[in-house]
Amino acid sequence: MSDVLVVKGLNARYGQVHVLDDVALSVRAGEVVAVVGPNGAGKTTLLRTLSGLVRERSGSVQLNGAEIGSLRPHRIARAGLAHVPEGRGTLASLTVEENLLLGAQGRSPKQAAARVAEMYDAFPVLGRLRGNRAGLLSGGEQQMLVVARGLMGEPKLLAIDEPSMGLAPIMIRDLIEMLRTAVATGVAVLLVEQNTALAAELADRVYVLVRGTVRAERAGGELPTDLLADYLV
Ligand code: ATP
Repeated sequence: MSDVLVVKGLNARYGQVHVLDDVALSVRAGEVVAVVGPNGAGKTTLLRTLSGLVRERSGSVQLNGAEIGSLRPHRIARAGLAHVPEGRGTLASLTVEENLLLGAQGRSPKQAAARVAEMYDAFPVLGRLRGNRAGLLSGGEQQMLVVARGLMGEPKLLAIDEPSMGLAPIMIRDLIEMLRTAVATGVAVLLVEQNTALAAELADRVYVLVRGTVRAERAGGELPTDLLADYLV
């Protein structure tokens, strides 16, 4: 399988604080890869660095073979990396459909409408809610909306920060189904999670990040709880 994302020697800092230290990881076509780790390990910083939001960074980031490690965020997005940040991030006063259209920048109105229709086909619950204000959706529905908004631009890689945060178990089931549907349409997924059970279930491979360093890599289904306990306690 070909690599969608290849990260090598990635470092990131906020001023004096060195948060990512020589991180290497990859995501192949058709894969879901999770990064798990304790609070403060640098998981959010990793996604913010990949999407160009952390300016003090060095190292190589390749997306489908093209170097994107030093590009500005809008260029990285255009290259095909969609970042879904932590928190729901919908515009509360806009409808579901208007929020989706925010993800369609650079497309003609006709192309945008066609992509919205594809989203409703793939995720019918969003179609039913299309005219509702985002601020009135449940937490799970809002998470689905931000994931769908990220998919609007047909990215090669969807990078999602803590999608299960604050969601009830039944909503986590819906989210897993949604991400599996998205992967079936050809996008690869890199997700950051504190919920190791979700990561183990959903991901093909899991990296364990501790204090800014990748300490282990495992197949998803095989996540040994003792290994996680060693690192995550
Ligand atoms: P959590 O699971 O708690 O969200 P995380 O693994 O996502 O944690 P980060 O949010 O990436 O970790 O934070 C990594 C480290 O960087 C922490 O020590 C944090 O305090 C620090 N940090 C994060 N953002 C900034 C910032 N803007 N300025 C300075 N330090 C920061």
